[in-house]
Amino acid sequence: MTGKRTNWAGNITFGAERYIRPSSIRELQDVVAGSKRVRALGTGHSFNRLADSPGDLVSLADLPPLIEVDTANAAVTVGAGLRYGELAVELNRAGRALHNLGSLPHISVAGACATGTHGSGNGNGNLATAVSALEMVTADGDVVTLRRDADAGRFPGTVVALGALGIVTSLTLDTVPAFDVRQYVYENLPAEQVTEHFDEIVASAYSVSLFTDWRSPGIRQAWLKRRADAEDAWTPEPEWMGGKLADGPRHPVPGMPPASCTQQLGVPGPWHERLPHFRLEFTPSSGDELQSEFLLPRASAIDALDALAQIAALMAPVLRTSEIRTIAADDLWLSPCYQRDSVAFHFTWVKDEAAVAPVLAQLEERLAPLRARPHWGKLFGAGPEATRGLYPRLDDFRRMMHRFDPAGKFRNDLLDRYLPPDR
Ligand SMILES: Cc1cc2nc3c(=O)[nH]c(=O)nc-3n(C[C@H](O)[C@H](O)[C@H](O)COP(=O)(O)OP(=O)(O)OC[C@H]3O[C@@H](n4cnc5c(N)ncnc54)[C@H](O)[C@@H]3O)c2cc1C
Repeated sequence: MTGKRTNWAGNITFGAERYIRPSSIRELQDVVAGSKRVRALGTGHSFNRLADSPGDLVSLADLPPLIEVDTANAAVTVGAGLRYGELAVELNRAGRALHNLGSLPHISVAGACATGTHGSGNGNGNLATAVSALEMVTADGDVVTLRRDADAGRFPGTVVALGALGIVTSLTLDTVPAFDVRQYVYENLPAEQVTEHFDEIVASAYSVSLFTDWRSPGIRQAWLKRRADAEDAWTPEPEWMGGKLADGPRHPVPGMPPASCTQQLGVPGPWHERLPHFRLEFTPSSGDELQSEFLLPRASAIDALDALAQIAALMAPVLRTSEIRTIAADDLWLSPCYQRDSVAFHFTWVKDEAAVAPVLAQLEERLAPLRARPHWGKLFGAGPEATRGLYPRLDDFRRMMHRFDPAGKFRNDLLDRYLPPDR
């Protein structure tokens, strides 16, 4: 297929000349072997040029939809192009679950894992931490399988890999028994409660999301996703941390209809219909937006809140909402949570890159001393010198990238800038 494609947000027109949708792995192998420059495009929910290629873009959407649930080994093997929403329904039907999900079920499994996409919860690693094996087509068209146990030395470098090692065709993920979740929203938590009790607040449920628009101090909405199994006896207080229990469903973006959000008000429901904020059958978030996110050591949460409060008046006019989440540390080399229990500060901006850019620059300057790592799939402006020192295994990754792809078939401008190959 020819013709230029855009990402989900419409702020990026990919430069790739050809867009190819192979219908078999064999066909994909031929495409990769015969292409000079090629990269995989998932569902296109990233906000920067990470997915782009100067040659071909490949979508796996037409491959047979593989979902193999292996209950005995607490695992599922899934086709890389499938969306979490599709996988979750099948898994749940088999009585199994993933440990966590991002805010939306619309994203592909491979695309999300490649960028370190995360949900929330002190004890929950990002989505890539569930990966125990992956199969990919490498630069010369071969199919390679990598396993967490058999390839322990290099495997942690291959999961959050930004599409730089090959085209992933399937992933095997850890599963847990299916569980129910109740979702509650508290509104208007005063700033002093949040700073005094931050650790208690983020530890108060399986997954916690705090929303603010930086127009007024404090947290506008705290979304608590509590596991219903262990906590059936728990009843919400009408007031908590100075906030009030919401009396109806809420949307995290002011002015957007709550009908597109997952069920709240404490109604128990399956994990995949509560852990994401947005329902698969609706447009997630607002659709008319840009996004950035920065992940810091969790211990720096209050310093980050203070630093951001100083530029609240600058941010507010270009911000639709902002979300604070926590994620457990992992050992994946390029994961923004590598070896750090993390707090993530997310920003949903208005769709005006010129207006957002100077604010983003200020924000990055404030968060840099706290060793903030940008989300690989969202907008960031700091140059490679700023990110280089943030990933202790970055040079190991660059060497591995060169071994997998010596001719640079999977490279693009963004990778050349931030991860030049180490020969
Ligand atoms: C409304 C909205 C909400 C979001 N919420 C969250 C959130 O809650 N948490 C969070 O962390 N992020 C969130 N994101 C960001 C999003 O999860 C990431 O950008 C993610 O990478 C999107 O997955 P995708 O399939 O669209 O990947 P794409 O954007 O299509 O690609 C991302 C990267 O993955 C690579 N890739 C894709 N498929 C393959 C493959 N088969 N093999 C090898 N590489 C591949 C691409 O080459 C590219 O480098 C959100 C984005 C949007 C638009």
